[in-house]
Amino acid sequence: MLSLREEARSQNLTVGFVPTMGALHAGHGALIAEAAKRHDVVVVSVFVNPTQFGPNEDFERYPRNLELDEATIASYGGTVMFAPSVAEMYPDGPAATIDVGVIGTVLEGRHRPGHFNGVATVVKRLFDIVQADAAYFGAKDFQQTLVVRAMVAQQELPTQVVVLPTIREHDGLAMSSRNVYLSADARQHATVLYRALCEARNAIEAGERSPKVVEQKMADVLSTVRDAEVDYAVVRDSATLSDIDRLTSGNSVVCLIAAKLGTTRLIDNDVMQIP
Ligand code: AMP
Repeated sequence: MLSLREEARSQNLTVGFVPTMGALHAGHGALIAEAAKRHDVVVVSVFVNPTQFGPNEDFERYPRNLELDEATIASYGGTVMFAPSVAEMYPDGPAATIDVGVIGTVLEGRHRPGHFNGVATVVKRLFDIVQADAAYFGAKDFQQTLVVRAMVAQQELPTQVVVLPTIREHDGLAMSSRNVYLSADARQHATVLYRALCEARNAIEAGERSPKVVEQKMADVLSTVRDAEVDYAVVRDSATLSDIDRLTSGNSVVCLIAAKLGTTRLIDNDVMQIP
């Protein structure tokens, strides 16, 4: 990777970077395709990062298929697949060494302690290796994009962070490598996250200005699916993820949902400017 990077630099080529955990789908594809439009070289990393998984999470069973991923990367215009081993990434053993502070401890961070310090640590290491001009992330993992921006500011890294919209299935379910875990029933019910987000958006567009009321509307939609176990369904400030008393004109807010369907935990979100 380092010699490829050196070669690109010597030829004055620009490098775009898409970090992933593999099991690539059209959501990843959109990031790769956009990077390919903007850069000469597009590096896609495939690394299932142990430091961002909790002890009872799905690290072992996370879907892995490098051969398929390599073909997918090429089909979207990616030029390099970088798939390091755990030992290469963490020669001193896997551990999170970067702390992004409070942005990593709320919402997802509260339900997945240590997760975002693990994300920040691996993204820092990948950024140091790839030394890209810009890196591409999906809005689907909204809090992750804030964590990455916080890490980049904290570490004063030169790589530009670009966030692109969430790609969805035809029925609204956000694409995710974890969707393959869903049973047929759970797959049908999984659209409830998107439906709750649409309900929230409609309410805000119709003039609702109380975050509590909007949150209740999301909860009502989510409660129509018996097997959805909701971790949170909230409206927050989109820059800080802090609570808001009242939605006021010009505010940028984000509705965020995390819910388990059967054994599969799903997240989704929607960012809105208050009209
Ligand atoms: P992952 O492999 O799940 O760690 O995701 C790698 C990158 O792809 C992250 O920046 C994700 O936010 C992004 N991504 C995952 N799913 C989607 C999606 N449905 N739409 C857009 N980006 C996505």
